[in-house]
Amino acid sequence: MARVFLSKHPLIRHKVTLLRNVETEPQEFRALIREVAILLAYEATVDLGVKEVSVQTPLTTTIDHELTDRIGLVPILRAGLGMVEGIWEMMPAAEVWHIGLYRDHQTLEPVQYYNKLPIHPTVQVCLILDPMLATGGSAVATVDILKRWGAKRIKFVGIIAAPEGVERLSTAHPDVDIHLAAIDDHLTPEPSKPGDPPVGYIVPGLGDAGDRQFGTG
Ligand code: URA
Repeated sequence: MARVFLSKHPLIRHKVTLLRNVETEPQEFRALIREVAILLAYEATVDLGVKEVSVQTPLTTTIDHELTDRIGLVPILRAGLGMVEGIWEMMPAAEVWHIGLYRDHQTLEPVQYYNKLPIHPTVQVCLILDPMLATGGSAVATVDILKRWGAKRIKFVGIIAAPEGVERLSTAHPDVDIHLAAIDDHLTPEPSKPGDPPVGYIVPGLGDAGDRQFGTG
């Protein structure tokens, strides 16, 4: 089974509660996604490789460390986009590779519509970014794409997951660490009457993370 890291950090708890709130407007919602992403990425990158280097301070020469791993940020379009910028500021040398998947509304399975990965892998560690790990279909498909590309170390960084998504991703890819702020209760079933929410949404969740970021709901 994959290792699942569920953050207990009070700042993350507080910010996720604000994200869930239906009253939170897109501008604040985007800021919160950005901030939670930075905090989760901080935890997810604790084992990045470093090497000793010599550095000249104003006072003397000393030995400290610099990163050796080349990092790829892989946002799943479109909801993952809001997680990129803040993390990128923390690691400006990272490469950003976008993967476009949409969920077929009938099958709920992911369909790829955008992928510009070069032929050979250019990074050692890939962080897949998607705020919602719902059915797990998009996450599994993205890991499949990255593994076919030749990526060796892949981590998934999400914000809210359904138990079904965690189960599916960790079963399909037990070598992929999963970093999350919350694991919620369940996914919505097929609607049985008008007014029911669409199938496959995380409950209690936060609604549609893409619509709430981009103001399109
Ligand atoms: N995608 C979302 O944006 N929200 C959900 O609850 C599930 C998938």
